[in-house]
Amino acid sequence: MQIRRTKIIATLGPATDLPDVLRAVIEAGADILRLNLSHGTHKEQADRAKQVREVAQALKKEVAILADLRGPKIRIERFVDGSISLEPGDIFTLDVSAEPAPGDQSRVGLTYKGLAGDVSAGDLLLLDDGLLTMRVVETKAKGIICKVEIGGVLGDRKGINVQGGGLSLPGIAKHDIEDIPRAAAMGVDYLAVSFPRNAADMNEARRRLRMVGSQARLVAKIERTEAIENLEEIIAASDAVLIARGDLGVEIGDAELPGLQKLITSKSLKQNRVVITATQMMQSMVESPIPTRAEVLDVANSVFDGTDAVMLSAETAVGRHPQTVVGAMNRICLGAERHADTNLEIDQLTAQFQRIDQAIAMAAMFMATHVSVQAIVALTESGSTAQWLSRVRSSVPIFALSPARDSLRRMALYRGVYPVAHDFPSADVEEALVEGVRLLIQQEYIKAGDRIILTMGEHTGDEGGTNSLRLVQVGEEGDLDYNPSLNNA
Ligand code: PGA
Ligand code: MN
Repeated sequence: MQIRRTKIIATLGPATDLPDVLRAVIEAGADILRLNLSHGTHKEQADRAKQVREVAQALKKEVAILADLRGPKIRIERFVDGSISLEPGDIFTLDVSAEPAPGDQSRVGLTYKGLAGDVSAGDLLLLDDGLLTMRVVETKAKGIICKVEIGGVLGDRKGINVQGGGLSLPGIAKHDIEDIPRAAAMGVDYLAVSFPRNAADMNEARRRLRMVGSQARLVAKIERTEAIENLEEIIAASDAVLIARGDLGVEIGDAELPGLQKLITSKSLKQNRVVITATQMMQSMVESPIPTRAEVLDVANSVFDGTDAVMLSAETAVGRHPQTVVGAMNRICLGAERHADTNLEIDQLTAQFQRIDQAIAMAAMFMATHVSVQAIVALTESGSTAQWLSRVRSSVPIFALSPARDSLRRMALYRGVYPVAHDFPSADVEEALVEGVRLLIQQEYIKAGDRIILTMGEHTGDEGGTNSLRLVQVGEEGDLDYNPSLNNA
């Protein structure tokens, strides 16, 4: 049986709130559920988090929750009638006065009063993810006067970007500072920071999260020009990186996206970080029950590039076919993985390792690509060995056995890693191994005769304590043959 390696993130929303839909979405293959804090009330998000835990427990599946902060996104304020329609050539003012009246055909307020100081005549402003554009004609103390280039309907609270980037808002907005303790209280496993400019923004979010007692891992959303300039330091300051193709494409121009997606993916993997590819992956399935061929190729190509996870946004949150789209993604990932390559590269072979668990993991992956083995089994407390193992892409499944529930949920995001709850019977490593292998046989992940690689520490229960590696064969009784022949399997 082929087990899917690439993980699927599904965003929750009104469509998944309908009875039984969340369960169906998880059963169809969602590994991580995303709470988008830009939409919905705090109570709705907290209820969703609770529901995820209940359904995951009922299904006995290790599922992670990712909360996504709103970030310092600049938005227009509301209109008298909810929306207006603009034509190319119309003159329109973005009003930066302190208390702007509701918008009309000629002007609308802005959430960020400083924008007038950040743009100048000739700049192109993109509204609603670029569906509507206007060029700055003149900036005045009370507003930015623009000429519409691409017209259309403009609704309340739509986002606004400047082509080329350069928004000057601080990385962590006031509403984000309030949302971090809320996310911590929901017990989320990952927290995504929107629009970080540099490592300092990530460090600030991490500090605030730890201050309120959460050990959630940090995801940096790469979605503005400054983040590309500071890519290496942002990756280093994060646990995972999300390629936020929506805002990023608007800021840097869509033609730059494909190259950047590949660059961010490979840089993240090299720095031992997890990488998520997001936005519009299956956009047509918001309405349609099947994806376009272009969407199929997009998802598959991100799998070939080496992404850990592919993400669904509106497709599951407000779409018409939430479980069908997850099923389609599952099918496409599996198809792509039948053709995916390993990425054990020469620079990994010559790298100097800083940690023993990293050295063990890399040795295990070297072995896995040079000897025929059916599985890698890692006894891990924190999951860090599993993370190292999964940075090398291969077709060998990695079963990560841990007694720690938070580690198990976190590992749900790592490509090729299958978290399995295993309460180590005692501090005795040998016993823990034999019990763990029995558990995997019971769950039909491995069988008698399989050759497997084991990684573990001298003492179970030590974080980052992995220091040994074995190649063994599973015997008829679930016992371990420590001296297998390499010729007969
Ligand atoms: P969003 O981020 O869905 O929060 O806007 C993703 C993106 O910009 O692509
Ligand atoms: Mn975004």
